[in-house]
Amino acid sequence: MKAGYPVRKIMKPPRLGIALIVSGPSGAGKSTVCNMLREKHPELCFSVSCATRKPRKTEVEGKDYYFLTKNEFQQKIKNNEFLEYAEVHGNMYGTLKTEILERVRAGKDILLDIDVQGAFQIRESSKKYSLLAKCTEFIFLGPPSFEELERRLRSRASDSEEAIRKRLDDAKSELDHWRDYDYLIINKDVEETVKDMEKLIDMLHKSTKRLEDSGFYT
Ligand code: 5GP
Repeated sequence: MKAGYPVRKIMKPPRLGIALIVSGPSGAGKSTVCNMLREKHPELCFSVSCATRKPRKTEVEGKDYYFLTKNEFQQKIKNNEFLEYAEVHGNMYGTLKTEILERVRAGKDILLDIDVQGAFQIRESSKKYSLLAKCTEFIFLGPPSFEELERRLRSRASDSEEAIRKRLDDAKSELDHWRDYDYLIINKDVEETVKDMEKLIDMLHKSTKRLEDSGFYT
């Protein structure tokens, strides 16, 4: 090496985590895709939402949701504990700040399965809050067709006919929102969709926007 040539070490700088916001109509397969990703990648955190609906048979308190009464939910709104919250299909759902902010600061990636209203609220907050602007990525998971969405909702057999109809009705307006998202993934085959998500997350790790300024070349 020539004398005086600067020593340039490549140091991997610390990076902020990614808040992967996944929306799409009920029946698009968000929970299945998120659960498979969680199993394959234990390092990926999941934002456990609060919900006022009743748990389904297979759901576990604190893993799938924090199931709250309407009063408990209202109290959390008063205490300003939510990053976002919305009424979805007649129940209240909300993301706690504690599920997201400290984790992304610590470099952890988090999956959020939330509806389009919640995603919109986070998008709005990120205009004022630079941490959110850096960390959030918005992914719309769509069904291959409306007919397939209906078939999936009916095959779930855990919801009442009334609940299915409400979800189908809501799906019509939710589907119009795909353009508000950064990425669109069509869930035709769940294994393929999980692979698409893995590739996307890999690519997002290469983004410079979450890297800290110092420490890259020293
Ligand atoms: P499900 O009752 O089928 O688990 O969820 C119904 C809808 O609520 C889904 O579209 C899901 O993405 C949405 N959801 C779940 N958690 C949250 C949340 O914390 N906030 C918002 N806004 N929507 C949520």
